[in-house]
Amino acid sequence: MEKQECFYCAQDKKMTSLMIKIAQLSTSTLYLNRDQTHRGRCIIAFNKHIKELYHLSEVQLCEFMKDVAKAAQIINKTFQPDKINYSIYGDLVSHLHFHLVPKYKGAPEWGEAFINSPASKRELTNIEYDRIVTDIQANLQKKDVID
Ligand SMILES: [Zn+2]
Repeated sequence: MEKQECFYCAQDKKMTSLMIKIAQLSTSTLYLNRDQTHRGRCIIAFNKHIKELYHLSEVQLCEFMKDVAKAAQIINKTFQPDKINYSIYGDLVSHLHFHLVPKYKGAPEWGEAFINSPASKRELTNIEYDRIVTDIQANLQKKDVID
């Protein structure tokens, strides 16, 4: 996939049909995945069209991983999952991004890999999405978060 056909770069309707922007971080952007099968599921995408982690400079890699850790910390604070799963696939959308998926004991796929694109997604109302985004944004402002 080239930059021209990448929805993370285009910031187009395809992208907004899948996710909602939460915040700009140091080197990346945090989004709420509209599929909330796993409550609090987010995506964190690097701000440039980079395909692989090893294409980043050492400084970029460090900064990006700090953003990932910060996002995971915020997800943990907001939703109190039992574990957060981190995944990078990118076969079809090669713009560097992690899926950050909170997992809960007794809930779907606990103890196994989560299904990236489930046949039936759990979508919320706009009010529910707004509430989650607002909660995450509020927690990002708190001082006890990695900086
Ligand atoms: Zn891109």
